[in-house]
Amino acid sequence: MNIAVLAIQGAFAEHIDKLKKLGVDCIELRQAADLEQDFDGLILPGGESTVQRKLLREHDMVEPLRKKIGQGIPVLGTCAGLILLAQEISNDGDVCFGTLPVRVQRNAYGRQLGSFHTEEEFAGIGRVPMSFIRAPYIESVVNRNQTEILATVEDRIVAARSGNQIGIAFHPELDEDDRIHEMFLEMCRGV
Ligand code: GLN
Repeated sequence: MNIAVLAIQGAFAEHIDKLKKLGVDCIELRQAADLEQDFDGLILPGGESTVQRKLLREHDMVEPLRKKIGQGIPVLGTCAGLILLAQEISNDGDVCFGTLPVRVQRNAYGRQLGSFHTEEEFAGIGRVPMSFIRAPYIESVVNRNQTEILATVEDRIVAARSGNQIGIAFHPELDEDDRIHEMFLEMCRGV
């Protein structure tokens, strides 16, 4: 199995370390030509979604990636990666892939809570550590029939799944706990 990690900006190295720790091969997506390789799953890391969006456009990677996601490749978007996937962004009109039927708010926790750590239930896994860094949250689910809420923190949705897409507002790659990546890898094995 081979997992592709978008490696143009942000916390991609941490996802790659996690995949290596779990014994999984990975490739880095830096330019359109990298998309010609075969891969079984896609990770969109945290970082700065405006910069990622700009670089994805400049490298002509938006359409080919959107197509792959549309074809059902399992995708895990964390933090900025969730913003790239979201169908609607309440405080930023510039949608990128727009494939995940949720409405997100960027930098939604304000200044004081720019970064924080907590532990909460995650559907199918149990309590997991959650590190938030200038995180978005999911204001609402655009299509309830298609979308499962995976985790909430103080009534705010912080993780959701629709088909093979998982969007998470926090950074599971930064914590020792591997269970979210393991769940994603199970999904990739099953396709
Ligand atoms: N604040 C960033 C954004 O809006 C996301 C932060 C992160 O990925 N840690 O894109």
